[in-house]
Amino acid sequence: MVEAVRTQGLFKRFGQQIAVGGVDLIVPKGSFAGLVGPNGAGKTTTLSMVTGLLRPDGGLIEINGHNVWSDPVSVKAHIGVLPEGLRLFERLSGRELLLYNGQLRGIPLDEVGRRADELLRIMDLVESQDKLVVDYSTGMRKKIGLAAALLHNPDVLFLDEPFEGVDPVSANTLVEVLRRYTASGSTVIFSSHVMDLVERLCDWVSVMNRGHIVAQGPLDEVRRDRTLNEAFLELVGARGNGEEGLTWLGSTTA
Ligand code: ATP
Repeated sequence: MVEAVRTQGLFKRFGQQIAVGGVDLIVPKGSFAGLVGPNGAGKTTTLSMVTGLLRPDGGLIEINGHNVWSDPVSVKAHIGVLPEGLRLFERLSGRELLLYNGQLRGIPLDEVGRRADELLRIMDLVESQDKLVVDYSTGMRKKIGLAAALLHNPDVLFLDEPFEGVDPVSANTLVEVLRRYTASGSTVIFSSHVMDLVERLCDWVSVMNRGHIVAQGPLDEVRRDRTLNEAFLELVGARGNGEEGLTWLGSTTA
């Protein structure tokens, strides 16, 4: 198996809190991989370290065999990132944002223009291409962010909750784009809470809980004879906390 992403003993602590406690993440090349876990499991912290946005306290990260933290420039040339809490250049229009990003990546302007037009069309953003990004809706921001992340044709694409706030029609478009992208041998890693979506899209799954990987492998090996949601609840321990409380909720006798 050729690995697109490999971490070994990845570690990050914030004060007393161990956010990522020795993670060995593996993502095979060409896979559509899902990183799942409950709130606070450490997914965003892991993805931030893997993409060179947050310095790890310990461990090794390789993307296509290159060490992310000792060789960041060459690694960043070959990856695309849609981070959480996406920060964009708000005072540019959608189209300007793509042209600017493409030029920062060193792509000739006429080529950037061609790619930007195609991406805007595919993402159904042509009508909003001259609107300022600050006025975009949540879903539109995700789509323009994804377009910006794809512009330089990266080998590996990292997406933190890419479908959050995206309507079903647009989500379908994103899925089609990403499917085409992985079919050509590129790799996608995305974090999500939506098990049905991960089950439908991914051929590889890594499950995180409390800063650790608790299961990882081909989708069918991780879920076995269960749905992914059932496997997930078993792996992270269904909490079932609170049903016996909240007796006042829904009660008409205030
Ligand atoms: P979610 O699904 O809710 O987005 P996540 O799996 O992405 O969660 P992280 O955001 O990586 O989880 O957080 C992991 C843990 O690290 C949490 O307990 C969080 O409170 C803590 N944490 C993350 N970033 C910071 C920070 N900058 N300062 C302090 N604690 C942090």
